[in-house]
Amino acid sequence: MFDNLTSRMSRVVKTLRGEARLTEANTQEMLREVRLALLEADVSLPVVREFIGRVKDKALGEDVVGSLTPGQALVGVVSKELTALMGGDLGPSAGELSLAQQPPAVILMAGLQGSGKTTTTGKLARWLAEGGHMQNGRPTGKKKVLVVSADVYRPAAIEQLKTVAGQAGVDFLPSSTDQKPEDIARGALDHARRYHHDVLIVDTAGRLGIDEKLMLEIQALHKILNPIETLFVVDSMLGQDAVNVAKAFNDALPLTGVVLTKLDGDSRGGAALSVRHVTGKPLKFIGVSEKLAGLEPFHPERMAQRVLGMGDILSLVEEAHKAIDINEAQKLAAKLKSGDRFDLNDFQAQLAQMKNLGDMGSILEKLPAQFAQAAGQVDPKKAEGQLRRMEGILNSMTPAERSKPELLKASRKKRIALGSGVPVQEVNRLLAQFDQMQGMMKQMKKGGMAKMMRAMGG
Ligand code: GDP
Repeated sequence: MFDNLTSRMSRVVKTLRGEARLTEANTQEMLREVRLALLEADVSLPVVREFIGRVKDKALGEDVVGSLTPGQALVGVVSKELTALMGGDLGPSAGELSLAQQPPAVILMAGLQGSGKTTTTGKLARWLAEGGHMQNGRPTGKKKVLVVSADVYRPAAIEQLKTVAGQAGVDFLPSSTDQKPEDIARGALDHARRYHHDVLIVDTAGRLGIDEKLMLEIQALHKILNPIETLFVVDSMLGQDAVNVAKAFNDALPLTGVVLTKLDGDSRGGAALSVRHVTGKPLKFIGVSEKLAGLEPFHPERMAQRVLGMGDILSLVEEAHKAIDINEAQKLAAKLKSGDRFDLNDFQAQLAQMKNLGDMGSILEKLPAQFAQAAGQVDPKKAEGQLRRMEGILNSMTPAERSKPELLKASRKKRIALGSGVPVQEVNRLLAQFDQMQGMMKQMKKGGMAKMMRAMGG
């Protein structure tokens, strides 16, 4: 996501930081680079023009020119403007969902067919049910969520929602193609009230293009449901076209926010900035994978930092916190302290936790540029494949073998390799790596962390 924009912008930032003096020439050069970077990322021309205009005004201003480190000051200007462009100017909590309403808080999903509405409904439901929602930076706890489909044109759409609701572990209210969308909406409201759901998410029909009937229908639904959030879901791969679709929906409905999907694809991401600009509505979430876990709340400031090559450590820490099972981690820590041996069973548990952290690509993306460069040599697909193979090998062993791997004979190693579909060398490699790791753990116990860091040359 934003790969090219990030690499171009971080280059600009790097050069600028080194400039002791800002001249007309190097300021122009910088603006040209930023402009190209944005255009290449598919940000629409009027948006780019306005952005460059604002940066230019400030670049010539006293704050920058009079600064002791003008290059640095200019980086600050670009960073601030980029944050504003991403929606930071809409207030600190603009990206948060607003659910403060007499329950059920209703969320209406709008967008074209194929934009990812149903998938996003499932993702949002899961996120809310797991307690992901925050208000003023504080988690508001797990929500009881009901989802319903008002898409009476495609029976498959209703089935699809049922499936994702099951995966998300939330309640699903069946609907059918012989019902009227308005009746489905009224029924769902009643049901959610009666069964005390905190949130009701209503998925709606989409068309391949914008059409009158679709807009009238969703307007009618909006009237009945009186949603606290009306989210417009848009496929980032649409590029420049996303702007027109966003305009149409924004004119028809009082949107409260935008969800941009498929940012994991080869989209250049610029649509995110243009859509935010033309609708004036905050980008609230981004979709970064087909899986239900692939939804991220959008933080303008963090994203701007990421694009400028400064990484998004805050999001990474938050995700790690959610993914890691604290009980498991504490058990492991206690085990290490007590002098018990770290065995392959522990290693297996650790691998499982790592997988919870999400896919490798999305972790690498959030690291600052200097790390990401090193990490860039890691192919996320390959790393993931390797993790999966390691898990396969471990799963083919018995718990007893995992606890005492030194007992593994050549014949068992062969069987394990066969069972997990890898060459026997890979089993040996894993055992060797594990030996090394165990050595490190021992060091850690003996001499503490500092000694180990020294041994590693840190
Ligand atoms: P709807 O017609 O708007 O309900 O769209 P769907 O939810 O059925 O999504 C259309 C396709 O896009 C499906 O194949 C989804 O798996 C896929 N999709 C949705 N969101 C994302 C995303 O964030 N990333 C990726 N890679 N695929 C997505």
